[in-house]
Amino acid sequence: MRKKKCTVLDCRGLVIFASRHIIQVKVEPIAVKRPTILVLGAGYGGLSTVVNLQKSLGTDEAEVILVNKNDYHYESTWLHEAAAGTLSPEQVRYDISRVIKKDKVTFVKAEVRSIDVNGKTVGTTAGDFTYDYLVIALGFEGETFGIPGLDKYALSIANVNAARQIREHIEYQFATWSTEDVKADSRLTIIVGGAGFTGIEFLGELGDRIPKLCEEFDVPADKVKVLCVEAAPMVLPGFDPELVDYAVRQLKSKGIEFSIGTPVVEATPEGVKLKKGEDEFEFIEAGTVVWAAGVRGNRLIEETGIENMRARVKVDKDLRAPGYSDVFIVGDCALMINEEANRPYPPTAQIAMQQGDMCANNIIALMKQQPTSPFVPDLKGSIASLGSSDAIGVAFGKKMTGAKASFMKKMVDNRALYLIGGAPLTIKKGKFDFL
Ligand code: FAD
Ligand code: NAD
Repeated sequence: MRKKKCTVLDCRGLVIFASRHIIQVKVEPIAVKRPTILVLGAGYGGLSTVVNLQKSLGTDEAEVILVNKNDYHYESTWLHEAAAGTLSPEQVRYDISRVIKKDKVTFVKAEVRSIDVNGKTVGTTAGDFTYDYLVIALGFEGETFGIPGLDKYALSIANVNAARQIREHIEYQFATWSTEDVKADSRLTIIVGGAGFTGIEFLGELGDRIPKLCEEFDVPADKVKVLCVEAAPMVLPGFDPELVDYAVRQLKSKGIEFSIGTPVVEATPEGVKLKKGEDEFEFIEAGTVVWAAGVRGNRLIEETGIENMRARVKVDKDLRAPGYSDVFIVGDCALMINEEANRPYPPTAQIAMQQGDMCANNIIALMKQQPTSPFVPDLKGSIASLGSSDAIGVAFGKKMTGAKASFMKKMVDNRALYLIGGAPLTIKKGKFDFL
């Protein structure tokens, strides 16, 4: 018998003869390169992506690499508590190793320095990485809108260490006031720029913390001033007016003052300048200025060459960056338009986590050469805390205030832990102080 000329048709190592007279079939397994899925950022979007990939993929199906600058995740949604000092920074964060399966995901502690979506390379402090699929989930940065001095003289609730800095700065001001001979009362003035959700939640925590600080540092309560400055004509612009009234009433009852319709136009080491009218300005001296007047995406986005607005990319319906079939963007770096309202969906953890799930599903679909699915947010509502036992919100279409809303907020916080780390993480880090 003669050996026939064969043709290799299959890259997986199957040797198939192109003849009816098969003399010998030899199956030689050769290693198939698993696709590399590189996920940048271990916030809500990145961790949800990874947790869902590790649930759905076998160890031999893909190489999943997660890069994050710290070896812990922090709950960004609790940062206002760490900043006010009502929750310890340790409680806000947990080790990434708690939630990833080491046989399925390689974690790299490194800072991302550059993203080259044309060369398919990501530069980090731990070296360069290439990928078959890239997920950018690098989160938010505080937006200063180019207002002079804010970058330098205001503090921002941007991450867990920035939150710790705010807490310690405020404590330092109280301690210094109580020990200095000539007392500068402006040390005890705290200005919060922005009455959006972050500003209001931070004020709620300050309302709880200030009386304790006064007691701890022997400071008379009437020496402390907490002023929220908002550019728009109302607090929480666009939110339900009845709930906003409740929030303002509650915060005022804790001694918080508001200056509404008066944008901050400058910050200096001594305080901030407000615009009060056409040509009218007021300077307010303050020992602490916390800027909570909006967010933008991560600055690295602006260096990718992908079209963006304030470092947020208007992603395709399946969460891919336009023109880049192997690049997904989730969380606060992604921008999606709510077509009903004709404006972008707000950047929230709720959406980031849902995007992470969908992103994982869509990557798996691409790996199987199946069609991807569009992302449609399933919005369950919004709740803003006003301290440890009070809140306002709309959940499942129902308005709520007080202890009920606060309970709901804590359940939402616990649910986020559960979705990423299951019952053990929820028990360890969850909020169960419902009184
Ligand atoms: P992030 O959670 O910001 O995570 C980004 C990750 O990337 C971080 O781990 C960061 O360390 C890492 N990273 C950043 N740069 C680099 C780099 N160069 N290299 C390596 N790693 C990097 N939303 C809600 O839905 N509900 C709430 O109650 C709520 N409360 C909030 C309260 C506060 C005080 C704030 C500030 C925000 C709140 N939000 C809330 C919004 C929510 O926190 C964000 O929408 C959410 O964190 C976005 O998730 P993300 O995964 O995109 O990014
Ligand atoms: P935001 O954009 O929602 O609010 C910023 C506020 O700052 C606005 O009211 C704006 O008018 C004001 N502002 C802007 N420029 C100003 C200036 N020069 N002087 C004074 N005020 C100025 O931003 P945020 O509150 O940081 O929230 C960011 C995102 O995080 C939002 O999507 C928000 O929904 C989300 N978030 C959600 C929760 C929650 O669900 N509990 C809590 C915090 C944040």
